[in-house]
Amino acid sequence: MSGRQGAMPYVLMYHSVQEYDNDPFFITVSPRRFSAQMAWLRRCGLRGVSVRELLLAEASGQARGMVGLTFDDGYADFAAVAVPVLQRYGFTATVFAVAGHLGGRNSWDENGPDKTLMTAQELRKVADAGMEVASHTVTHAFLEMADDAMLAAELKESRTILEETLDREVTGFAYPYGLAGAREVDAVRAAGYTYGCAIWPSENSGRYALARTYIGDRDGRLRLRAKRVRHHMRWGRVR
Ligand SMILES: [Zn+2]
Repeated sequence: MSGRQGAMPYVLMYHSVQEYDNDPFFITVSPRRFSAQMAWLRRCGLRGVSVRELLLAEASGQARGMVGLTFDDGYADFAAVAVPVLQRYGFTATVFAVAGHLGGRNSWDENGPDKTLMTAQELRKVADAGMEVASHTVTHAFLEMADDAMLAAELKESRTILEETLDREVTGFAYPYGLAGAREVDAVRAAGYTYGCAIWPSENSGRYALARTYIGDRDGRLRLRAKRVRHHMRWGRVR
């Protein structure tokens, strides 16, 4: 067990925001839908923030009305499409970049749609715009399959690459495929990260395995509301 908390902060999970034809893994939200979702958050009196900002605010009892926004993999459309929308609403977000694929493609998704990833320059630009850039390993590895040395290297090297790229501290982590087993959670803590984002709730849920709510292109106002209610019923309302 790793510090399971009564109240889990409300954190939404996105991947890609762009127009699309084919999206077998449901990781893409259209720009129009994304804007509508951000508008809905605003109408509910919520402000989208990075996970770093959310956890800092929570520590000082200031997290009321905040919702964490996260984007996995570091797709180029985060810089081109999502960030301008976020800025329009005064929101920030966390993007989890695959440090060994900057400027490359999501080649780990063999059967998925081919998408471009942000370059080092784009990553710096979104960091300068106030977004949190955090790690999603070097290679988008299946950490559960990695031996201890490989696991430690994925965590340490990704952080080093991103910190050198950005010239700023990187303290957040997201588990590829959301796989946050006890060994992986301990390794993320040992590697000096201050939090870890998982996907599903588990016995490891807590600061180093934050459960997140998947948001897809089919999530209109009613489904967004239902998901929020479900989160609060499961975890209790955060202050
Ligand atoms: Zn991923």
